[in-house]
Order: sequence, then C-alpha cells, then structure tokens
Amino acid sequence: MKTIHAIVIFLVAVVLSAVLIGQRYKQLMNDHLMMRESSQKVALTTVTNTLRLVSRSLADEVLQKEDLLKLVHDIVYSGKEQRNELRGELYRCLYQMYARISQHSIRQFHFHFPDGRSMLRFHAPDKADDNLRPYRPSVVIANRQHIEVHGYESGRIVHGFRHVYPLNYHGIDIGSVEISNSFQQINKELSAITKPTKTELLFLMDKSDLWYKLSEGLDKLYTPSSLNPDYVIENQDASAYDHFGGTIQTSPFLEQLQLQLKKRSDLKTRMAEGNDFSFVVRYSSQLYSVIFHSIRNVSGQHAAYVVAFTPEPYLRSLLLNSIIQFGVALILFVVIFHYRIGLTLSRKKQEQTKDFLMTLSDNMGQGMYATDKEGKLTYINREAEKVLGLTSEESLNKCAHDLFHVDDSGHEQGCFILNAIIEGATCQQEMAFFRNRLNKEFPVELTCTPIFTEEKIVGTITLFHDITQRLKHQQELVEAKTQLEEANQHLSELARVDALTGIANRREFDQTLSSLWKSSYRKKERLGILMIDIDHFKFYNDQYGHQKGDNCLQQVVQAICQSCLRPEDFIARYGGEEFIVLLPQTAHDDAVHVAKRIQQKIAEKAIAHQKSPTKPVITLSIGVCSMIPHDLSSEQQFIDCADRRLYVAKNNGRNQICDQD
Ligand code: GH3
Ligand code: MG
Ligand code: MG
Repeated sequence: MKTIHAIVIFLVAVVLSAVLIGQRYKQLMNDHLMMRESSQKVALTTVTNTLRLVSRSLADEVLQKEDLLKLVHDIVYSGKEQRNELRGELYRCLYQMYARISQHSIRQFHFHFPDGRSMLRFHAPDKADDNLRPYRPSVVIANRQHIEVHGYESGRIVHGFRHVYPLNYHGIDIGSVEISNSFQQINKELSAITKPTKTELLFLMDKSDLWYKLSEGLDKLYTPSSLNPDYVIENQDASAYDHFGGTIQTSPFLEQLQLQLKKRSDLKTRMAEGNDFSFVVRYSSQLYSVIFHSIRNVSGQHAAYVVAFTPEPYLRSLLLNSIIQFGVALILFVVIFHYRIGLTLSRKKQEQTKDFLMTLSDNMGQGMYATDKEGKLTYINREAEKVLGLTSEESLNKCAHDLFHVDDSGHEQGCFILNAIIEGATCQQEMAFFRNRLNKEFPVELTCTPIFTEEKIVGTITLFHDITQRLKHQQELVEAKTQLEEANQHLSELARVDALTGIANRREFDQTLSSLWKSSYRKKERLGILMIDIDHFKFYNDQYGHQKGDNCLQQVVQAICQSCLRPEDFIARYGGEEFIVLLPQTAHDDAVHVAKRIQQKIAEKAIAHQKSPTKPVITLSIGVCSMIPHDLSSEQQFIDCADRRLYVAKNNGRNQICDQD
C-alpha cells in the first residue's frame, strides 16, 4: 500500500514538473516572439514611411509646375486625335525625370483621367485609356474625394505600394498621378535595418485579391507559393515591369524552411484568417521564428503577407535549458522515490549512483547545491563553484544565505531555502540575486526543493542559472525598438525642410499659410506676402552649370533671411527658383520695405550673371501683397495676387517690385 502511494506521488510530481517547465518555456518563447514581431513592425513602418516621403517630395518638386498641369488639363479636355499628340508631349516632357527617379526606388509613374481611365503609364506608354475603376480603388478614392491615397494595392499587371495624388488646375479636377514602390524595394531598405538579425523576407500575394484583376495572359508573371496554392509570388517575368532590379530570388535555405513550415497542419487555416501570426520552425538543429505580417490594401482588407524568417539561437538555448531542467528534476524525483520506498540497494550500487549523479550534476550546465535543514551547504557542483568563484572546501558547512545570497530585507526571513523548509514545498524564483567571490551581484533564476526522509524534511536542493545574458538580450531588443522609433521621428522632421537651402519646403509652407491665415482672420490683422523669383536663372544654369546654380540659390536664401528681421517672418522655397515670404502683422508699405531690403542685399552680394539681359549680376523680381483676411477672400486668392504682381514685375523688365494690380 505504501509502495503504491509513493508511486502515485512520484508520477504526479513528474507530470507536474513537466507541465510547469513546459509552460514556462512556452511563456518565454511567446514573449520573445511578440518582441520580435513588434520590432519587425516598427522596421516595416519606418521603411514604408521613408518611401512615402521620397514619393511626396518628388510629387511636390515636379507636379506643381504650371505648364505640366496645363498640359494634363489639355489632355483631359481635348478631342481624341489631339489628345494622343498631347499625351506624347507629356511623355517626352517627363521621360528624363522618369528615367532618373526609376533609379531612385520608384517602380511606377502613372497618370489617370478624372473618370478613372489610364492616361499614361510610363512603364507601358502604349497601353492607355483602359478603365481602372474595377481594379484600382486607390484611383477612384483620390479622384472622388480629392485626397491623397497611400497603401498597398495589386493591379492589372504588377503590385505596388501606391501613392496617388489628385491633380487640380485652377480649381478644375484633371485626374491624378501615381508614384509606386514594389515590395522588392521595401525589402532592399528593410534588409539594411534587419541585417544584424539575419532576417529573410518573402512576399505572398493573396490570389483572391489579385487574380480577377490581371490582364489576359499575365498570370504567367506569377508562381504559386510552395506554402499555400491560394497565394502567389512574382516570378522572373515580372522584372520586365520593374526598372528597379528584378524579383527577389528565394534562397535554397528559405525553400527548405518553407518545406518544414508546410508540415504544420494549421498553416492554411491561420493564413485564411488574414491576421498577423507566428510559428517557430526547426531546421538542421536550429530554431527559426516565422512571422506572418498581414498587409492590408487601401480598402483595409487583407491582401498579402510579408513573411519574416529569423534564426533564433536564444530560443534554442531556452529549449535546451528546459530539457536539462526537466532531466534534472526527473533524476531528483527518481532519487527521492528510491529513498522514499526504502529500496535497499547494495552499497556499491549506491556509490555508483552517487558517482553517476555527481558526474551528471557537474556536467548539466546549471549551478546546483544542497543544504541541510539549517541552510548549511552539504554539496556544491562544479558549475556553482565556477559561477560563484568558491571551492567545495571553503563553502561546505557554511550557511549558503550568508555566503552568497543577496537579501534586501537584511535578515534570513527572506531566504528561499528557509521558506521551502517551512512550507515543505518547492520554491521557484524567476529573478533572485547572488553575490560572487568578488562581491559582484548578478541575477539568477532558481528552484529550491525540500528533501524528505521518513516524511521529515532533512535539507534542500537548489538549481540555478545566471540570467545576465538573457536580461541583456531582452534589454537590447527594447533599445533597438526605441532607436527605430526615434529614426522614424527624425525622418518626418526632414520631410518639412528643403534639402538644398535648409528653409521650409512647399508642403510646410501650405500648412503654415493655412494657420497664419486663420489666426490673422480671427485677430483681424494684416498678413503680408512676397513672391520672389530669380531673373533669367535658366541662362545662369546654362552658363555656370547646375552646381553653381545650387550655390546661387543658397546665397539668395541667405540674402532673404538677412532681410527678414522679425522672428515671426516665415520663409519657404515655393518652387525651383521661386521663394515666398509670409509677414504676419505687416502693412502694405512695410511689406514693400522688406522687399526693397531683399533687393538691396542681393545687389550688395553682386553675384555675377553675365548672360542676364537685365544686368550682369543676379537680380530678383518681387510681387508684394498685404491684406486682412475676410469672408470673401481665400488663401488661394492671396497667393494668386502676389503671383500676378510678380508676373507684372517680370513683364515690366524684371529687377523690380510690383505692389499694385
Ligand atoms: P524668368 O526671369 O522669366 O524667371 O526666367 P528664368 O530663366 O529664371 O525662369 P524659367 O522658369 O524659364 O527657368 C527656371 C530655371 O531654374 C530652370 C531650372 O533649370 C532652374 N532651376 C530650378 N530649380 C533648380 C535647382 O534646384 N537648382 C538649379 N541649379 N537650378 C534650378
Ligand atoms: Mg526665374
Ligand atoms: Mg520661375
């Protein structure tokens, strides 16, 4: 009866320890996967934001040009024959720029009519006038709601991370223009960030989001994914549509990992749900995290997966530790079991078992020590000696608590050995602190189990390991995440500044004008504006070259800044060689005064411009306007007024200020 009792206790203890160790392993693994997932998310967001800013500055630089907008307007409102001619003109005008930006990570450059038909695809100029509405919600939204649309979307030929901007010519809607990136470009930027973790990426497109859109015969551009036939990847043929540098080659190593992943029976169900999820996969004695990031299209529906494969040496050592812990626990239970049922092993056999256990405990890679019920050390293994910097001789018979436990309570009450003895139960601590011979404290994870003889506690066994590395690793992951967030913040700052001159760009100007306009309207105060344009700057570039032209632009900006003395005065680069100054609380005559000061500063600088028909130095033409915003005037009328006067100054011979209509 006593034997059956002992066997039942033994089995319960083994099962319980297996469950506890298993749960702990799972919890640590899940924490790690969550951390990995969130840091990859931040990296993905950083890269898509960066590419969005690049596309935005290209759109700002080029597409605000009056003559281009007029050309697009004429294409939209002309007859069929003339339209084709004008379309050819638009293609020729922008082809140089397209060739340049397609080397700067742009995949597609595409104009659309306001009714959603294709106007001009720069990657396929012969194919136009087809109706995009059924396949391209981004184009429909941009033209209907007159807002910018950003996001992933599959298409009639290839996919894209799209940026669609509505176009407007003097209040008339003239369609939209699109600048798109491919996943290959995103992968290129991402791999620079994720290089330290050796992450490899795969892009899987959902067939149900893509297949019905494809133009006839173009399904040859895609290959079914070896993971799941409901998803496809772009193949080599798609590179003909990609000036950026072809499709991503999947490495043989990635193929092997996919074969392992495919064995999971729940893979298809998880992929069908269209949410983020992750797995751990084993291949050639290494563990890898596989994280599926769901990519939503512009309508917010799941449309693709970015799958990230990352080697996880940390998870492997976690697994080994858990197996060792369970092995040690099992052996301890076997020893206790034998002891408990009073099996009489021969003395020799006992010696052999003892030797075996000593060898095992010395080589198990974990610290271990035993105490009597007063807490004095009766045994210490080699790993514990090494970590604590003690030898058996100097530590045996000494109180473990005094020797190396760190206890803030200052008394033995906080000692886990005493607690295990008092409560007669295993005591686990995820983080305690030990002190080594050099008095240096370090964190440990430990389990302390009481030893029973004849139902009385005779001592304890403690297993521990140093978790300094693990904590450091977790800290590094948290810091990496913070750094990526800071980088993201820095990039959005850059997007407001013009790179060449360091002053605000057109986008920042639009926002500042809007807020100054509203505040002047509320306070019924005058707002002044100067529209400044360099005279005959094209000749300057032709004679002195583009580099000198850039230097000249910087000097002009310096002259403007030196002339605007109030801290509230706001200076921006409006276009190529056009600048704009906003002067809050400034009357008409004072605005003219600032314009004169700018012209004087430029005259003092005397920047040589021999080809100028006006004067052999750089001169400026300035349009000036000042008004109190009221219900009948708008920001656009305000800018138009300054623009009109600049035009008059140009027409009257340049190098002058015009402040009247
Ligand atoms: P106008 O007196 O009528 O203003 O004549 P313009 O030559 O100054 O005007 P136009 O609009 O014909 O030419 C503007 C020139 O400015 C053409 C373009 O090459 C140059 N430009 C625009 N942006 C930059 C830039 O960032 N750097 C340099 N170097 N030149 C630029
Ligand atoms: Mg000019
Ligand atoms: Mg100009």
